[in-house]
Amino acid sequence: MTPLEKRNAKLAEQIIKNLQRRHIEGFYCPTGEEAVKKVSELIADGSSVTWGGTMTVRDLGIPEALRSRGTLEVLDRDLAETPEEKQAMYLRAFSTDVYLTSANAISEDGVIVNIDGNGNRVAAITWGPRKVIFVIGLNKVAQTVEAALVRARSTASPINAARFDIKTPCQVDGICHNCNSPESICNYIHFLRNSPRGRHTVVLVGENLGY
Ligand code: SF4
Repeated sequence: MTPLEKRNAKLAEQIIKNLQRRHIEGFYCPTGEEAVKKVSELIADGSSVTWGGTMTVRDLGIPEALRSRGTLEVLDRDLAETPEEKQAMYLRAFSTDVYLTSANAISEDGVIVNIDGNGNRVAAITWGPRKVIFVIGLNKVAQTVEAALVRARSTASPINAARFDIKTPCQVDGICHNCNSPESICNYIHFLRNSPRGRHTVVLVGENLGY
């Protein structure tokens, strides 16, 4: 094991313990390949599954892996052919068996932070799908909840603004200006600090994934 791999394993172990205190099951996968297998194992045959706006899930090839099983109902709103069909998929996501997402940041003590423009992702994390699986690269770990919020606002959001090519101040200089732009992607800020009904699972990955 390299020093980085050793540290990642120890860090993940601590985060998983802290997630357990919050009634959130956690797993650590050193590689993206192992993470794809783990996510697939966590989803039972016959389940309906979809995901929020997440580069991590897409970059790992999880949608393709799930489709290739042939035993799941996979809803991919990127394949919608009309705005009406897309809207229907947004709404259908709330009644799926499994919702996949990543996070903008996670604190070492297990609080998961997400920022959303439309609110659909944080809404589904909060309520609806029977099970929510977060796939989170260790690059998104921050020392404290406060640091996680800073990461989400100052790193993840400006990059996501660039991804969507929207007209916001962070697109000009790469810095968050706490804007109230009509195109802001930072309308909802969500902290998951406890999961007493056990809906949430976290798969930590020892790679840099997403933003
Ligand atoms: S400038 Fe606005 S859109 Fe950009 S990261 Fe800050 S709050 Fe979000």
